[in-house]
Amino acid sequence: MRQPIVIDDRKSDLSKEVLLHSGQDATLCYQCGKCTAGCPVAFAMDFTPNQIMRMVQLGLTDDVLNSQTIRLCAYCSTCSVRCPRNIGVADVMDSLRIMAAERNISGTGRSRKVNIFNQAFLDTLSRFGRSHDVLAMVLFNLRSRQPFLNAKLGLKLFNNGKIKIKPNRFKGVSEVKEIFQRINRLKKGA
Ligand code: SF4
Ligand code: SF4
Repeated sequence: MRQPIVIDDRKSDLSKEVLLHSGQDATLCYQCGKCTAGCPVAFAMDFTPNQIMRMVQLGLTDDVLNSQTIRLCAYCSTCSVRCPRNIGVADVMDSLRIMAAERNISGTGRSRKVNIFNQAFLDTLSRFGRSHDVLAMVLFNLRSRQPFLNAKLGLKLFNNGKIKIKPNRFKGVSEVKEIFQRINRLKKGA
């Protein structure tokens, strides 16, 4: 007679780490697939959200942290709302992104580009206190080695007044800079 596998009794190291980071117990997932059915980005992912949950249960750390899924996830929380086991799937995705960054795993292909875009966005935020579309676009293009990507579209947006070369003035810029400086100090363990 077949015996059921009780995952709770043998949590993988990865599911324990996810639990520690996000407070979400991935071992509760019973693979109903509702998260994937509602995910607006699932069509573009290399693993569906429910597959990621299963991989976390099985401790497939390398595959999960290198996946495009954790970087393409838009953190819309549809999956969390739909989950009949009340698992915050979006928080699981977020914790996996953080764990990948802590291990300096940037992924390949589209994952790499998502990371480059995120960094470009954060660089403009730390400089001006809020995002600056033009600089973020230029940084992304240069760092991803495709200098003329969307150049025509950028020009069109500029001509229509949708994007501005000059950053908007923002009163709280020094506070935002201080936040970034504190994060950098924390990263260096100071
Ligand atoms: S939070 Fe991420 S995984 Fe969940 S539904 Fe939204 S995009 Fe999909
Ligand atoms: S909705 Fe919840 S229980 Fe169902 S597959 Fe997704 S994470 Fe697992």
